[in-house]
Amino acid sequence: MNILIAGGAGFLGSHLVDAHIARGDVVTVFDNLSTGKLHNLDAALQTPLFSFSEVDICDPLPPTGSIDIIYHLASPASPKAYLQRPLETLRVGSEGTFRLLELARSNRARFVLASTSEVYGDPLVHPQTETYRGNVEPTSPRSVYDEAKRFAEASTSAFAREHSVNTAIARIFNTYGPRLDTADGRVVSNFITQALAGSDVTIYGTGKQTRSLCFVSDMVSALMALADADLPGPINLGNPDERSVLEIAQIIIEACSSNSPIKFEALPTDDPARRCPDIGRARSLLSWEPVMDLRQGLDETIQWFRLLNQPK
Ligand code: UDP
Repeated sequence: MNILIAGGAGFLGSHLVDAHIARGDVVTVFDNLSTGKLHNLDAALQTPLFSFSEVDICDPLPPTGSIDIIYHLASPASPKAYLQRPLETLRVGSEGTFRLLELARSNRARFVLASTSEVYGDPLVHPQTETYRGNVEPTSPRSVYDEAKRFAEASTSAFAREHSVNTAIARIFNTYGPRLDTADGRVVSNFITQALAGSDVTIYGTGKQTRSLCFVSDMVSALMALADADLPGPINLGNPDERSVLEIAQIIIEACSSNSPIKFEALPTDDPARRCPDIGRARSLLSWEPVMDLRQGLDETIQWFRLLNQPK
């Protein structure tokens, strides 16, 4: 199959690239390298099945050969990254999404939107089901990401209705693993970097807020199952193993054999208090569920961070 992955130089996108190449697919990546990193594609760039184009999907898109599946993963994705790029985040979720949907329409391609648990905002329903409509403050700093993704979901649904584009919406919950950007400010990358350096592990707020962490290989298999299915979604993809941020800190400090002290800092505006996916739909419709245990996934991630720090 011919696969286009917009945002394929990012953390999740690059793993998706590798998995499709391993399956024997021909893969093209469009990425403007705003937050993506070319070195995430080092392995892919060695294969003849792969091509990379430095493309901003908000600009007119270059010609492509015929495409069977388009994945739209192009967006800053960590809170630090999107809060630093508010207008860029809104543009890629709106204009960028439109351009990719037009491309899917002209190619009669399957279109998979990487949406997010952030569409639920600070959720009042727990765990979050796909029927929950969310609790987003439309003008807060975080809204640039939440509303861009909500607009992208609305656009995707409208292209399906109006132009019969074969679309799917994946609502992706917190994902971690090797290739996390060490500087993107996310909970797992911050805590591992801090614990390995022996510096303070920074917990924002009380640490009682929860997240549910999914290992990247589980997320990749979910996205591929969704692409191969004939389902529109929206469908939650994530690991329902819910933990407090304090617990995540303690596990990482222990797994790194670190003496780092915990330091409590201010909670960012509108930081969701609880987040856990209800994955009933994914289980029944995709026959998918995550298999990686949190401690084992963190060990693999820590190992990757350790190798990064070794002198070349
Ligand atoms: N967090 C934290 N310390 C950090 C980074 C993040 O306590 O150094 C918290 C953050 O406030 C949030 C959770 O960890 O409650 C997850 O944050 P992340 O930025 O990874 O993603 P989010 O789930 O908020 O999109």
